[in-house]
Amino acid sequence: MERTFSMIKPEAVINKVSGKIITAIEEHGLKIIAQKMLQLSKEQACCFYAAHRDKAFFNELINNITAGPVIVQVLSGDNAVEDYRSLMGAANPASAEEGSLRKLYGISIEKNAVHGSDCAQTAEREIAFFFNQLEIMS
Ligand code: ATP
Ligand code: MG
Repeated sequence: MERTFSMIKPEAVINKVSGKIITAIEEHGLKIIAQKMLQLSKEQACCFYAAHRDKAFFNELINNITAGPVIVQVLSGDNAVEDYRSLMGAANPASAEEGSLRKLYGISIEKNAVHGSDCAQTAEREIAFFFNQLEIMS
């Protein structure tokens, strides 16, 4: 079993599609082994997205991710990282695969509804950023 980190972004929570996204994750076969709602401060968001700090879109990224509450999750499954990325679809909803979460619920590349870790190593770092061991089901 592999673990990945998922975030349902503010635009999806504000648009009241978080329940649909959670259902899609469960129906896809990924197991939710931790979940909570919180709102990131700008400082926390900058730390979470530190890898993107030199990108032109960084300030917009921080504004979007702190615009409202997010739902953070730990997902478990065979090949969970790649499996969740395929369920999410491409970063830009306009070019995302039909039926993918970003195609269904994303508004734009800046507001693309969900985040998922890009590799197993990133997943463990992102999980540890948000969850302690007691909060994650084994
Ligand atoms: P992928 O790696 O498949 O492109 P991702 O979600 O990992 O998807 P990143 O490149 O890691 O995307 O970027 C992180 C987030 O920054 C994206 O999910 C998106 O919300 C935002 N973003 C990415 N590229 C742009 C861009 N060109 N303009 C504005 N925001 C962007
Ligand atoms: Mg990426």
